[in-house]
Amino acid sequence: MYMPDKRTYADRAEYLKKAVTERRRKLRKMVIEYKGGKCKLCGYKRYVGAFDLHHLDESQKEFGLSARGLTRSWEKIKAEADKCVLVCANCHRELHGGIRSFPEKSGSKTR
Ligand SMILES: [Zn+2]
Ligand SMILES: [Zn+2]
Repeated sequence: MYMPDKRTYADRAEYLKKAVTERRRKLRKMVIEYKGGKCKLCGYKRYVGAFDLHHLDESQKEFGLSARGLTRSWEKIKAEADKCVLVCANCHRELHGGIRSFPEKSGSKTR
């Protein structure tokens, strides 16, 4: 019965890790709902894990919505999300590959 503290600490570390993961998942879901809940290009909406945020203007990009980006406050995440469109991973690759673009040009600049 020695080092009970260590065990408590490990449990707490584990708990915190889970809490962070949980928070990120929740924030991710909030962002996706905030952005309309489906891919702007193809309407895909089956799985939240398949969504990306595409920055309309890459020069304004502050942070992505990767795990790291999701440690920011909701206000910051929202501000960042406002510069983006929600697309699914497939459409996102196609956008960057240049074989796909947005039909309506909200925010697209000459470039
Ligand atoms: Zn799509
Ligand atoms: Zn993109």
